[in-house]
Parts: sequence; structure tokens; C-alpha cells
Amino acid sequence: MTELSSVQQLQFTWRDGLDIGVVALVFYRILLRIHGTRALRMVGGVAVLVAAYAFASLLQLTMITSLLGVVFTYGVVALLIIFQPELRTALAHLWQAPATRRPPRPEQGPVEDDIADAVDRLSRSGVGAIIAIERNVSLADYVESGSSLQARVSADLLATIFTPYSPLHDGAVIIRGDSIVGAGCILPLSQGAVGHRSLGTRHRAALGLAEETDAIVIVVSEETALVSVARDGALQLRLSPVQLRDLLAAGVGPTAP
Ligand code: ATP
Ligand code: MG
Repeated sequence: MTELSSVQQLQFTWRDGLDIGVVALVFYRILLRIHGTRALRMVGGVAVLVAAYAFASLLQLTMITSLLGVVFTYGVVALLIIFQPELRTALAHLWQAPATRRPPRPEQGPVEDDIADAVDRLSRSGVGAIIAIERNVSLADYVESGSSLQARVSADLLATIFTPYSPLHDGAVIIRGDSIVGAGCILPLSQGAVGHRSLGTRHRAALGLAEETDAIVIVVSEETALVSVARDGALQLRLSPVQLRDLLAAGVGPTAP
């Protein structure tokens, strides 16, 4: 029997449909979860290693294949350790659809105005602040590190939260849609260089979150009263109030899929 006739004899049954459907759904959900996070960049790295392995075994380069074989054997354990926090939340939120966890994109305007007003006020009074705005990647993990809230964003409330000695002034505020969903939250610190030596952990935390997610993070410096914004893994220093308003008007909220 030729290869072709054996392929022609294959029957596509409902089982195959179910099989393919379930696998596609699982991959789709995994991609939704890791979209824009460090996990996606790691997937790229793993894909390169797999391609190198396939290439080396095709050319029968035994040393490279056996070395990569060792890397894969222990790499699985390493990946489990590196992604332990992500795996834990992925399992916890397995059946929560990302679309239902995140409210729809807020109407443009009021929320951004309130944030810009609050930042303006905080900067003029020299009060330090850090505000993270969630976009496509969920910040639920970071909300869990602080106090969870459910309050409509307002300039007064933001200014109040960061007032020194208020119980929630330490740590970051997290905004989802038109609500403040967390305060006093701990963000991941960037390990790279943040630029100037005077920039401490607050700026490092803003940059860290912008490296791991697609969030927009606004920082008001307590030391210099300057406003900075971290996004897409970069920290933009010394924004004027007008620049901040333009930036918020242009890019807040999840992008359309
Ligand atoms: P500033 O210019 O305001 O002094 P900085 O970048 O120099 O900021 P620090 O002086 O170390 O940073 O600021 C400390 C404050 O930053 C803390 O009181 C806390 O509110 C906030 N902060 C520090 N680390 C984190 C973190 N991982 N996540 C969220 N907020 C943090
Ligand atoms: Mg400081």
C-alpha cells in the first residue's frame, strides 16, 4: 500500500474534530494568558533551541544533539521553577475567561483626566506615587500583593491614597478600566539599569512591570517631583503635564484584539 492510499483511507470522525478543537482551545487560552509577558519571550527562546536541535539531528551532529538533549531534560525543571508564579495563577484562573475578568474599554476621557489631574496635584505637592494602568495583560497577580479595592477612579481618591501616612500610600495603585482595583501593591523590580543614579526602587518597580507586562506605569518622584512613565520596557523621564495627558489620551485601555 502506498503512502498516498493510506492517507486517503484516513477517516475524519467527530473524535478528531473534538481532539483538534480541545487542543486548539487550550493553546488559544495559553497564548491569551502569556501574550505580552516575559513568558512569550521565553517561548521564542525555546523555539530557537528546538529548531537548533532538529537541525543538528538532521545533520547528525551528535555532540550538539546530545548537549541540547541534556538542556531539554533539565530545562523542563528550570522552566517549572522560573514560571512557578505564572503557573500557580494560571491554574487558579483556569476557568476564568480573560474577557470576563476585564471590564470593557472605558470611555475615553474622564478616567485619563482624573489620573492626569491627580498626578499633577501629587507632583506639585511633592508627594511620591506609582500608578499602574492595566491593558491587555492581567495585573491580577500584583493586585493580590496589596489591598484589593473596587472604586471609581477619581483625582481626589488617588491623591488621598498617596498622602504620606495614609495606610495605603506605600506601594502602587493599580487601575483597571475605570476602577482602582488595588493599592499598596508590590511590583516586580527591574534588574537592568534605570538610567540615573537618583532613581530608586519606585522607578525600578515601574520599569519592572513595564518589562513584564504591557501596563502603563506612572511615577511621581518624591525627591524631585518629576513625573515619569514606564511602558513597553522603557522609562520616559520628566514628562510635562501636557505630555502626560497626550500619552494617556493615546494609549490607555486594552487594544482591540
Ligand atoms: P523617589 O524619587 O520618589 O524617591 P525612588 O525611585 O528614589 O523614588 P525610593 O526612594 O526607593 O524610590 O521610593 C520608595 C517608595 O517606592 C516606597 O516607599 C514605596 O512606596 C515605593 N516602592 C518601592 N518598591 C516598590 C515596589 N516593588 N512596588 C511598588 N512600590 C514600590
Ligand atoms: Mg528615592
